[in-house]
Amino acid sequence: MCGINELLGFAPGICEICGNECEFCIHGEFYEFRCPFCGNFSTPNPGKHPYNLSLRRQNHQGTKEEFDIETAKIIYLVHKKTFGRNDYPLITGDDLNIVKYPLSLSEQIDEYVLWAGKLLKYPGNDIKTQIHEAFFGCANADNFWYLLDVLEQEKIITKKLLDVDDFEKLSLTRDGALNCYPTLSKKGWDKFDELNRRKIESKQAFVAMWYNDKEDLKQAKPNMMNVYTQALEPAIKNNGYEACVLNQIEHVNDINDEMISQIRKSKFLVADLTGYRGGVYWEAGFAYGLGLPVIYTCHKSWLKPEYNDNNEIIREGVHFDVEHRNMILWDNVEELKVKLERRIAAVVI
Ligand SMILES: [Zn+2]
Repeated sequence: MCGINELLGFAPGICEICGNECEFCIHGEFYEFRCPFCGNFSTPNPGKHPYNLSLRRQNHQGTKEEFDIETAKIIYLVHKKTFGRNDYPLITGDDLNIVKYPLSLSEQIDEYVLWAGKLLKYPGNDIKTQIHEAFFGCANADNFWYLLDVLEQEKIITKKLLDVDDFEKLSLTRDGALNCYPTLSKKGWDKFDELNRRKIESKQAFVAMWYNDKEDLKQAKPNMMNVYTQALEPAIKNNGYEACVLNQIEHVNDINDEMISQIRKSKFLVADLTGYRGGVYWEAGFAYGLGLPVIYTCHKSWLKPEYNDNNEIIREGVHFDVEHRNMILWDNVEELKVKLERRIAAVVI
């Protein structure tokens, strides 16, 4: 069934993540948003979404400053997932506790350089765009102005990034659009190349997976540690890469700098979706945002959701936004090893 807005196209609305004006459209069961700050995204549960601004405001226990930093963190995570994409990735909101926020100053500088380098079509390109301080992992507007000063002092940008008249408008509760002219100096472009080269020269592959070491095949729970040693690791190794897996890490409520830095150092990421782990989706989305190739694999039983006689969900299936991607479905470790080895050879140059 088509929603009425699907027939009419996009209508003006309010972004449920950042609270700014945006466009939205009902597309089947999903709501699609086009936000100048969060990018294009879709969600299956608008209004009840864990990232929903008014819902979060109602439930928030801490200070206003803490709330604003949490909002900036969410915009950072969503923008990371949507930047540079033409589709509407699904935002599920189960990854709030993963990243340490705000980012460190050197990470903020890297984020700026990667953002500007991807946005500008060539050195000297002059384009106008809208920005949000959260794009660069900043806590708030003060943090962003400080970052801007550092970018100038370090001669990474060539001129003022923003129109002076617009200065006061940058904040999480903005009431007007902020015009920004991204620039990079020669030093900035060199840094952009260096950040990309770090990825190109890397011999590491990050594995995001479910750390289940108890086999229960009746419940479709394979021993994933065996799957790692017998299929994932050898398939990666046979292509000349080292597999990196951060074993025994609980993703919920864990701020994990180590994981972030290992993904940043990797050339590509293998995401096994067996077990429906929120952390795996987050890691895959983060790698995608960095421009790394992501290869998805999944045990056959976990592709579609499973229901009991009362139509209650007993096992989740693969998320909508990765379901259509070219995924390796596997039944046993031998099959997975062969298919993954071939896929890595085809996808990773
Ligand atoms: Zn938004």
